[in-house]
Amino acid sequence: MALPYLEELRAIVGDAGLVTDRAGRLAYESDALSLEKQLPELVVLPLDTAQASAVMRVLSKHGVPIVPRGAGTGLAGGATPVAGGVSLSTARMREILEIDPVGRTARVQAGVVNAELTRRAAPHDLFYAPDPSSQAACTLGGNVANNSGGPHCFKHGATTRHVLGMIVVDADGEVIDLSHQGPDPDGFDLIGLIVGSEGMFGLVTEVTLKLVPIPDATETILAVFPSLDSACDTVTEAIARRLEPSAIEILDELTIDAVERSVFAAGYPREAKAVLLLECEGSAAEVEATSADLTELCQEHGCLEIRTARDDADRRRLWAGRKGAFGAMGRIAPDLYVADVVAPRTRLREIVRIATDICHERGLKVSNVFHAGDGNLHPNISYDRRDTDEVRRVLEAGELIMRACIERGGSLTGEHGVGLEKQEHMCHLFDESDLDAMRRAREALDPDLRMNPGKMIPIRGCREMRTPEPMPQGDDR
Ligand SMILES: Cc1cc2nc3c(=O)[nH]c(=O)nc-3n(C[C@H](O)[C@H](O)[C@H](O)COP(=O)(O)OP(=O)(O)OC[C@H]3O[C@@H](n4cnc5c(N)ncnc54)[C@H](O)[C@@H]3O)c2cc1C
Repeated sequence: MALPYLEELRAIVGDAGLVTDRAGRLAYESDALSLEKQLPELVVLPLDTAQASAVMRVLSKHGVPIVPRGAGTGLAGGATPVAGGVSLSTARMREILEIDPVGRTARVQAGVVNAELTRRAAPHDLFYAPDPSSQAACTLGGNVANNSGGPHCFKHGATTRHVLGMIVVDADGEVIDLSHQGPDPDGFDLIGLIVGSEGMFGLVTEVTLKLVPIPDATETILAVFPSLDSACDTVTEAIARRLEPSAIEILDELTIDAVERSVFAAGYPREAKAVLLLECEGSAAEVEATSADLTELCQEHGCLEIRTARDDADRRRLWAGRKGAFGAMGRIAPDLYVADVVAPRTRLREIVRIATDICHERGLKVSNVFHAGDGNLHPNISYDRRDTDEVRRVLEAGELIMRACIERGGSLTGEHGVGLEKQEHMCHLFDESDLDAMRRAREALDPDLRMNPGKMIPIRGCREMRTPEPMPQGDDR
């Protein structure tokens, strides 16, 4: 069926800025959460803010839903066009517009890939700190929309701490220029509102980001543990003792096995039940002191072996294993459900155990690789989507894990966003008046609700949802 707005869009972005054929659009039917799929009517790829604005004016006139899309690496279905309409991709907006080595900032188009910014900042002895494990593919616009984290966000903070300015185009095509904000914005902090809004307030077209000096010294430590419990307890104690490495990651036995059988093999010891991957940054003296404290702490918790990276190549190899871990899970089963929840850091051991039990009771294979220092857990369930009963059990386990975290003072997403996946589960965390406030904030920027419809905020009121069974606590479970 001919789209009534197609020729108007072609006049703006040309043939190169449109994907019309079904085969091409198939690549946009979901993000990395591939359980739910929906083909967009059309994919539009503007080159810059002006084109994005003109495109959105046309779509506004025709009342078409818009789904912003970066690289599609999201794990919560955020870029899946559930309500149809147009997938608005930043794939052609890849220019680094300016690096200011004196002011230590970068101005980029939203489609720039995360790792590319660090690569381009390196000659100035600077880097971009938030480093999602998907950083070789995900875009900075997607990072802003999801307020993404990464291993080094333990020290440096998630994306929101690094966004100094942005340009956003709203659903009607109006350009909102927030690129010249001071440290304390005049009026409302709109940047704070838009970071993490998952594409529901408009298309971010440009971002001004903070760059961080490359530290004088870095040490990467791999600590080998006889149990996942002891690795978790070490992290809880490191926080209590106020030790400040830049990254604290845990990988469990099944993850190590998958990584070592994959192209990401990092030389992790196959016999380990868990490893801690720790990194210290700072002056040589700071790094030496923190590394010594961490080594002592690991030994107090029964650590079997401590290895330190010999050089940069060794360090890169250790991190490649961690960052490739989700991909390596393909060694276990064809599909992977990456749960993303937050546990209070005082209860890491308990919640990891509960998550593991929930999966095992349902006959599911679960592995853990996570940003332990932030309490951001990723119980990863390997499954085969062709087995409909297994899919049902995976989703049930995912919901129970979320509820277990919420009931113990945690949260339902650490970094991947709510998207489609956790929309209904927002009712476990927020009441109807909280959700109503979110709806009103959204309506202020997008009264027709055309930006990324069907995401984040439950469509039906929570009262209409089935009342969940209370979660048994502790040993009663
Ligand atoms: C192997 C793997 C590892 C991962 N590791 C991490 C990790 O360590 N930390 C982490 O936080 N996440 C991680 N993720 C999740 C994902 O990479 C991040 O959420 C990332 O920020 C998504 O970026 P993207 O460009 O792929 O965005 P998409 O997936 O394309 O979109 C994500 C959301 O942002 C919106 N959006 C995208 N671009 C824009 C824009 N320009 N303006 C407005 N809205 C926009 C979309 O509508 C959608 O809601 C991982 C994913 C994978 C597959």
